Amino acid sequence: ANGHAGAARSTFVVNSPNVTYTDAEIKSKYTYRTTSVDTDASGNFVATPKEVLYDFKVDRKVPKVGMMLVGWGGNNGTTVTAGILANRRNLVWETKEGPREANYYGSVVMGSTMKLGTDAKTNKEINIPFHDVLPMVHPNDFVIGGWDISGMNLAKAMDRAQVLEPALKAQVKKEMAEMVPLPSIYYPDFIAANQEDRADNVIEGTKASMAHVEHLRKDIRDFKANNNLDKVIIMWTANTERYADIIPGVNDTADNLLKAIEQGHEEVSPSTVFAVASILEKTPFINGSPQNTFVPGAIELAQQHNAYIGGDDFKSGQTKMKSALVDFLINAGIKLTSIASYNHLGNNDGKNLSSQKQFRSKEISKSNVVDDMVEANSVLYKKGEHPDHCVVIKYMPAVADNKRALDEYYAEIFLGGHQTISLFNICEDSLLASPLIIDLVIIAEMMTRIQWKSSDAEGDYKNFHSVLSVLSYMLKAPLTPPGTPVVNALAKQRAALTNIFRACVGLEPESDMTLEHKLF
Ligand code: NAD
Repeated sequence: ANGHAGAARSTFVVNSPNVTYTDAEIKSKYTYRTTSVDTDASGNFVATPKEVLYDFKVDRKVPKVGMMLVGWGGNNGTTVTAGILANRRNLVWETKEGPREANYYGSVVMGSTMKLGTDAKTNKEINIPFHDVLPMVHPNDFVIGGWDISGMNLAKAMDRAQVLEPALKAQVKKEMAEMVPLPSIYYPDFIAANQEDRADNVIEGTKASMAHVEHLRKDIRDFKANNNLDKVIIMWTANTERYADIIPGVNDTADNLLKAIEQGHEEVSPSTVFAVASILEKTPFINGSPQNTFVPGAIELAQQHNAYIGGDDFKSGQTKMKSALVDFLINAGIKLTSIASYNHLGNNDGKNLSSQKQFRSKEISKSNVVDDMVEANSVLYKKGEHPDHCVVIKYMPAVADNKRALDEYYAEIFLGGHQTISLFNICEDSLLASPLIIDLVIIAEMMTRIQWKSSDAEGDYKNFHSVLSVLSYMLKAPLTPPGTPVVNALAKQRAALTNIFRACVGLEPESDMTLEHKLF
């Protein structure tokens, strides 16, 4: 199953004096060109092109990677696990529409391409799989494990999830039955009361403690050792928790957070305890749910330990559409005036979100996603002006994982006219989220092997900032380094990701100028 591990795969080389390859590394010298803006005495902008020269270094050795999921026995956890097993074994199964085969559709890394350049002879575009731009780990090679407060084995949990076709389940059942989640920490106050009957696989204690942190750290270390792993990436795909109150002296700084955990403070959530354990193990931790796992103290702790974190909340369906559509509307000069978003779903996520405090977490993460696009357009919107935006989620057991999202976009067009766009989006939620989990693991892992330094300065290579905002494309409420702007627009998020990876091999950003087709 580990055919790819360790192999420095590359389907292209960059032919440039700025790029050097060794067996161990790719090094590039990259000129980052931006525009710096000042305001002159009369209030006019003065835009000055600016260049910064960076050295990037990529470790080419693809490590053996473990993916540990918190909430492994849930819909996402079981679906992503079955999906990877199916791909690893190239499974084909019968459906009423004929045979289907394993694929990684919905994963940017595994399912999309990027332009490498134009063919020297024909001038046609050459595109390569996204996965091949840097030496990334292959998801078929992930070793999978994790925790759940429900002790059901993964075969039974997959049945409970009601996501996959019976003929597919039959083929992965044996392997999945042998997978049993590790016991987890359960603080009932943080998730809906209706989850209580699942919690039969819990570590003693119902509030944060150092014993819990140590227990989880040992789980991570044992998983690594038992599977001979070079690296582990941890992902929260457990229930949505309520928000934790930010309390000075409790979770505002790294020291206070550690002290609060020691003292068993009630406001420290299970997801924050997992984040702290991961950070202390220098294991990247990504939060796929909307709650504020990364309280200020957790972010500071990650920075102190040079550990990577990313979040929050998988951007799978409605919000992904929104961050593409609103970007398009506003950039088309159309004045969006309201967005009404309704959801109903019948899986366990929906059941948990039927509780007010957990819904509130989701409402917050779904609400801010158009702010940057609105703020950027001072032609359409006055300062502080916003489209109306409301988000409703209802639990409807019968539709199970087939979530429904109904959206009405209402906009003002030329001379006071109106445009109403109505969307009805139906999809199996876990089949959208699973490829995002895979992308997040692959990209987070890749980021641990990229280092940089500024070419003019002395000194060693450094890591990227602890907060991996480059994961934003996959996340609804992207976490960014403190004090830096949040980008929600989907196209910009993708461009940041592809262009940073391109820079690491000395390639220019993907430019759609195509002057070669215009100037001749
Ligand atoms: P799910 O309810 O099926 O799975 C969650 C699992 O987490 C359950 O098995 C539960 O027992 C377990 N759990 C709860 N608390 C735990 C703890 N403290 N430790 C370990 N395990 C714990 O939900 P799902 O559909 O798999 O979604 C998981 C999360 O991802 C939810 O928070 C959801 O809001 C978020 N999310 C999902 C999508 C999507 O498209 N599926 C999109 C965005 C966000």
